[in-house]
Amino acid sequence: MKVDYIVVGFGLAGLAVAESLVSANRSLMVFDLPDQSASRVAGGVINPVILKRFTAPWNIDNFVHKAIPFYKNIAIKLGNSNLITDTPVVRRFNSVEEQNQWFESCDKPILAKYLSGSMMENNTKFLNVPFKLGVVNNTARLDVEELLNEYSVYLERQNSFQREIFDYDLLELVDQGVKYKGIEAKHIIFTEGYGVSKNPFLRELPIIGNKGEYITIKCPDLQLAYIFKFSMFIIPLGEDLYKVGATFDNRDKTLITTKAAKRKIIEKLDKVLGATYTVVDQVAGIRPTVKDRRPIIGTHNSYKQIHFLNGLGSRGILMAPLLAENLLDYIENETALSPEVDANRFKG
Ligand SMILES: Cc1cc2nc3c(=O)[nH]c(=O)nc-3n(C[C@H](O)[C@H](O)[C@H](O)COP(=O)(O)OP(=O)(O)OC[C@H]3O[C@@H](n4cnc5c(N)ncnc54)[C@H](O)[C@@H]3O)c2cc1C
Repeated sequence: MKVDYIVVGFGLAGLAVAESLVSANRSLMVFDLPDQSASRVAGGVINPVILKRFTAPWNIDNFVHKAIPFYKNIAIKLGNSNLITDTPVVRRFNSVEEQNQWFESCDKPILAKYLSGSMMENNTKFLNVPFKLGVVNNTARLDVEELLNEYSVYLERQNSFQREIFDYDLLELVDQGVKYKGIEAKHIIFTEGYGVSKNPFLRELPIIGNKGEYITIKCPDLQLAYIFKFSMFIIPLGEDLYKVGATFDNRDKTLITTKAAKRKIIEKLDKVLGATYTVVDQVAGIRPTVKDRRPIIGTHNSYKQIHFLNGLGSRGILMAPLLAENLLDYIENETALSPEVDANRFKG
């Protein structure tokens, strides 16, 4: 079998690469075993603002411009409009100073389109909200797990997806590309998230990894229609279920859920939520982070047929679609990469 591309790993990065290849009429084969998927535990929050200090993340306009239509088009293609929903994100203020800071930030050109100048009144008695609520524009919620499930079935139907671990030892590098288990490809793109730490070809990639945990609660009284941001997020999932979190931990690189994370989330939650709830689930994942908080895309310095898209950190949903487009442009048209995402930026 001959294809244009092999893609290894099918989280948000692999999905964005696969959809970009399909749109460009390239043939592909994806390998994925989702045993270590940050994407599948993600909250699915599409939020263009750093809500701790009301600042704009790097390159945010370009990411938003590409990402929201990208996922909406996939939802249309897969015939499931519930994959992405225009869910508001609202921010709770801890003090009058913070509320004033929000108004000041609204006037900054980069933030004006994302921070609404009109505040919202709290409409649920079960949330402790001492001030008004700040509303973020251009937000949405992506059902990442369902999206990955449905898109992988779509690829499977085209004989372009294999649910199995990719064995790096079996990859052969040849003049015109790569060979793997009887498949010949011109290029291979690795999109394994934190799993790249096991990839012998990309050991040099400086992916650090940051563990995040969420709990899911059932809280029939809450009836929340928006994503509520305090020191964490409360994310409505439907059927009285809410994801609450997430934690950040630089040291623990296991996927085991911990009592400490659960306790930490509950302690914070109990300060704002005045309704009874039960914890019904807890999940953990490792965000593929980089020390300068920028993603990493490019081509292996010695093997020109090997490429990668990684380092999506805590904002994978917004960044992946544009980065996939940039990477393919770079591979096929030699369009220069922005120095900010080029893996060679760390070379002295
Ligand atoms: C708790 C938590 C909450 C988050 N919430 C949000 C959020 O609300 N919004 C947001 O934008 N981002 C969020 N993120 C960040 C987001 O999840 C990541 O940026 C994104 O998922 C990274 O995607 P990825 O495709 O690079 O990696 P992953 O999602 O980890 O995907 C990599 C895939 O490759 C597979 N793989 C690896 N090696 C191999 C191999 N050898 N063979 C086969 N398969 C392999 C893995 O099993 C996995 O399926 C969150 C992250 C965490 C941990």
